[in-house]
Amino acid sequence: MLNTRYIFVTGGVSSSLGKGIISASLAKLLQARGYSVTIQKLDPYINVDPGTLNPYEHGECYVTEDGAETDLDLGHYERFLNVPTSQANNVTTGRIYQTVIEKERRGDYLGETVQVIPHITDEIKRNIQLLGNKYDYDIVITEIGGTVGDIESLPYIEAVRQLKWELGRNCLVVHLTLVPYLAAAGELKTKPTQHSVKTLLESGVQPDIIVCRTEKHLNQNIRSKIALFCNVDPTSVIESIDAKTIYEVPLLMREEKLDLEALRKLNLESDIQPDLSKWEDFLYRLKNPLGEVKIGLVGKYVELKDAYKSIQESFVHASSANQCKVHVQTIHSESIDDDNAADKLKGLDGILVAPGFGSRGIEGKISAIRFARENKVPFFGICLGLQCAVVEFARNVLKLENAHSTEMNADTSQPVIDMMEEQKKIVAKGGTMRLGVYTCRLEKGTKAAKIYQVPLVYERHRHRYEFNNHYMKEFENAGMVTAGINPKRKLVEIMEIRDHPWFIGVQFHPEYRSTVDKPHPLFVSFIEAAMKFRTSRQAATSK
Ligand code: GLN
Repeated sequence: MLNTRYIFVTGGVSSSLGKGIISASLAKLLQARGYSVTIQKLDPYINVDPGTLNPYEHGECYVTEDGAETDLDLGHYERFLNVPTSQANNVTTGRIYQTVIEKERRGDYLGETVQVIPHITDEIKRNIQLLGNKYDYDIVITEIGGTVGDIESLPYIEAVRQLKWELGRNCLVVHLTLVPYLAAAGELKTKPTQHSVKTLLESGVQPDIIVCRTEKHLNQNIRSKIALFCNVDPTSVIESIDAKTIYEVPLLMREEKLDLEALRKLNLESDIQPDLSKWEDFLYRLKNPLGEVKIGLVGKYVELKDAYKSIQESFVHASSANQCKVHVQTIHSESIDDDNAADKLKGLDGILVAPGFGSRGIEGKISAIRFARENKVPFFGICLGLQCAVVEFARNVLKLENAHSTEMNADTSQPVIDMMEEQKKIVAKGGTMRLGVYTCRLEKGTKAAKIYQVPLVYERHRHRYEFNNHYMKEFENAGMVTAGINPKRKLVEIMEIRDHPWFIGVQFHPEYRSTVDKPHPLFVSFIEAAMKFRTSRQAATSK
């Protein structure tokens, strides 16, 4: 068995250079050469997990199978590798301190002064090596959040320094920097890279490979200059040019031989050629669409690029699967009402109502759903999106005028969406929702069963509220039926409208499970329905 090798990915000069994508791309190439690889993210903030962070702060919160609320980069890791991640793949400073402080209270360090070095750094190192020790991965890639030089990431960099010393050639550091192009000078500039490597060196860490994010190709001269000033081989200066889609990056990294360089430095010779033919096919279909559709994504965080990351990426996967360009138009739920819905939503081939918390924008979501239901526009509701569809149906079809979710109106006399029984006694907010994977049994003869083509599915959840089964008969009699149910607890997981071409709401989050290798069947089918709707819509207008 191979000794686990550790690759650390740090970032310099600026945030948002795409450490997550570089890590995922390198992992993909190594996986394609036959290694078992996982990726871990270390986040320097004090929250124990990002579950309590507002999307404005941190983008989407990604949920793993084992119910961990994690950084959105884990979504990229899964989408690229098609291997599930877990709680162990995302560690925050808050978690590290929480563990150390609990140990201190238990008396594990009795008599000692508990300090950043060695106690905090030991706990960081334990978390890094956990994946190698417990799960036997050949290679663990650890992405250090933040930018070198940040006060809060110092303990992580120190842990990397110690591990580099302890592990020797079983470990390497990849540093991602920016090489800006100064239009006025007509030149690429290496100075910020030199400075960020110097900052890393001040913490005792010499990077082995430098990946340079750039808008223009690096010539030999620039590569040699970076190599010279930063003490790396010229072959270890890797260009990461801006790409049209993140899914091109593994192929760009293969051209730049990032994987070969990493393997050489880790003393792992590989004569297997990475087979990325499936990936290339995915990309070909994505870049050569035969048609197009326009989908409205209705939510309250639309001004934020990363708030619905997994949904956006699931659309990319479905776009390739259908070889159809999916234009996603984000629409602020607060801007929609019953009077303007037809105008705001015209020209859309499908409407997705996003997950969310709290009452802001809720009535706009309900109006958008009413429009989709009445006009037979394909509709996909996810989590809160399903709950709003239930409220809309209750109010406008069942004529339960006061119908609401008790999340929005605790005193409603018609609580069609209500808090789950076991949630009622919970007061703490962090990590206490219904989280992670649950079984869902599909009801025979429903659209959902036809789409999935299997009797049982396993989907991930993140919610406190649920369809109130007290109303089930009334809904079913009026045509909104249960298509998926949790067999143990009888919780409704999927609802659909019988007399509508595609109207499906799911209590879980299918977007967390869509990958390049396995685009999610619900998204693929939703886009298919949108393509059909567009054709009929266009035929109707040309008459
Ligand atoms: N706020 C809703 C609940 O807690 C929906 C959550 C979601 O959309 N993820 O049940």
